[in-house]
Amino acid sequence: MSSPVLEFKPEQASLLLREVMERSGQNLLGCYQCRRCAAGCPVGEESGLTPDRLIRLILLGEREEALNNLLVWKCLACYTCGTRCPNNIQTARITEALKQMSKEAHIKPLVPSVGAFHDAFAKSVSHLGRVHELEFMALYEFKIAADRARRGEWKAIVGEMKEQARLGLTMMKKKRMHMGLEKVKGLSEVKHIYKKAKEKGR
Ligand code: SF4
Ligand code: SF4
Repeated sequence: MSSPVLEFKPEQASLLLREVMERSGQNLLGCYQCRRCAAGCPVGEESGLTPDRLIRLILLGEREEALNNLLVWKCLACYTCGTRCPNNIQTARITEALKQMSKEAHIKPLVPSVGAFHDAFAKSVSHLGRVHELEFMALYEFKIAADRARRGEWKAIVGEMKEQARLGLTMMKKKRMHMGLEKVKGLSEVKHIYKKAKEKGR
């Protein structure tokens, strides 16, 4: 994987680094670029960016690239990188923080389906305090279909509907689809957290 030459920007670097460290709870200054994380990341190759490179971008103050890259959206939160890191740096927490920051900056997700998945999950949880599979899938599919309709991808919409209907039926037969509307205790607190997050643009 070839790497572009990066320029150090002290002021931007300090601001970006502080924000990512605060949000993620990870000590990025402990990274000494040994690349043990890179060797185990299952999506590093296809993202064109490995965890060590992402940390380097942040340390150098490359805000735009740090907030807008495929690793942020393709990270599986498998924690392989963190398990291998001699300094216990959990890149999954960093990519989560960068997703939030990217959303607050109104940057479109590079993988729209992942963005839609997050939004649908959070919205569903905000209603009952826990995810309701049917509602969650409906919200997700609606968002994906609306995006595809805008691009005129009607065949893809029909294909997805068929696939999801087949999957839904299989889940119902296996009693893996829960239809009940069970609320959690402290639902008002969950709603409050969701409202606060929305106000911040997350
Ligand atoms: S394994 Fe840890 S110290 Fe090594 S490059 Fe990755 S994040 Fe940095
Ligand atoms: S948690 Fe994300 S960045 Fe780390 S190894 Fe897994 S996919 Fe790669």
